[in-house]
Amino acid sequence: MGGFLDNLKKMFIMPADSGSKFITFNIICKRCKEEIIVKASKTSDISKLYEGDEAPGGAEYLLRKEILGNKCNNLVHITVYFGSGYNVISREISGGKFAD
Ligand SMILES: [Zn+2]
Repeated sequence: MGGFLDNLKKMFIMPADSGSKFITFNIICKRCKEEIIVKASKTSDISKLYEGDEAPGGAEYLLRKEILGNKCNNLVHITVYFGSGYNVISREISGGKFAD
């Protein structure tokens, strides 16, 4: 006994699909030109939009993130709106620019 319960616990703890939990962005710091790779977690960084939220048409998810590089203390802010398939609908950045 116990094996079944242990397996059950693992099922809940282990992520079902770890490969698609993150969306990455390449940004460039405006001050030092450092290229920074941002990993946004779909579960903790990206939030679902609700009716009444101010958002572009078709947007379902919102990511707001502050990014600090290693080379200077310039903070980069990004705001990205995603559609239902995590496709980017619109994005804004301050303190840097998107590299792609
Ligand atoms: Zn920098």
